[in-house]
Amino acid sequence: MSISRREFLKIASASALLGFGGVSAFEILQPGQFEASQVMPDPKGLVAKRWAMVVDISRFRTEEDYKRCIEACHRIHNVPDVGNPKEEIKWIWTETYEHAFPGQEDEFLSEKIKDLPFLVLCNHCNNPPCVRVCPTKATFKRESDGIVMMDMHRCIGCRFCMAACPYGARSFNFRDPRPFIDKEKENLEFPTRMRGVVEKCTFCYERLAVGLKPACVEASQGGLIFGDLEDPNSEVRKVLNERYSFRRKPELGTSPSVYYILG
Ligand code: SF4
Ligand code: SF4
Repeated sequence: MSISRREFLKIASASALLGFGGVSAFEILQPGQFEASQVMPDPKGLVAKRWAMVVDISRFRTEEDYKRCIEACHRIHNVPDVGNPKEEIKWIWTETYEHAFPGQEDEFLSEKIKDLPFLVLCNHCNNPPCVRVCPTKATFKRESDGIVMMDMHRCIGCRFCMAACPYGARSFNFRDPRPFIDKEKENLEFPTRMRGVVEKCTFCYERLAVGLKPACVEASQGGLIFGDLEDPNSEVRKVLNERYSFRRKPELGTSPSVYYILG
């Protein structure tokens, strides 16, 4: 496993500062098995899937194409608009190539690609460091489909998971988020969160449970492709078979379930 010195130092200093119970940064990033209690058993005993997403960058041509996906997600999940970038809550957002894929810049990389915004979200890593460091098992990986979930009731707001996530995919509620949700758009069927807990994308587990695709995928008009990596006939597997794809920070060994293709 090779990771950048900056990445390693970030996690090492976080593990020292936050006191991950003697767990070193090296151990946090090591691929390996989780304790049985960190992987939730499938309640229905279904065959294991691994949900994955492919972001087809060529289908995102206008600001509106990105906005549709972000708004669909944030509206359905009651993500508050706090209005302060330092306390921002985000489940899906855009990053520049440089920030989304650090270390993969090249002086000859097309200016067009360098300037593109890339949609980013929790990668639902197959080897998620956030799960390994959570002391209360508030964040856990589902055995049935690989989704990295959050149980808000068990979250104590220690933010170890935020320090361990190399993708900045988690947000902390510094204040009560409820006053920052547009009441006219509030989804009463999805729980709101409270001050002092961490939140992030959960691949729309609540929609998948009733046979729907994630809200961002539905809103993307073909820009986001979703399916089961374990199924050789799934759309994601077909796309990944035919097209060159890449993932964020592959050198960390987290094995993201979000892939990118450039058309
Ligand atoms: S992207 Fe971050 S929060 Fe999501 S599973 Fe990976 S390490 Fe955890
Ligand atoms: S902030 Fe919550 S989810 Fe994150 S490590 Fe602490 S208890 Fe676990």
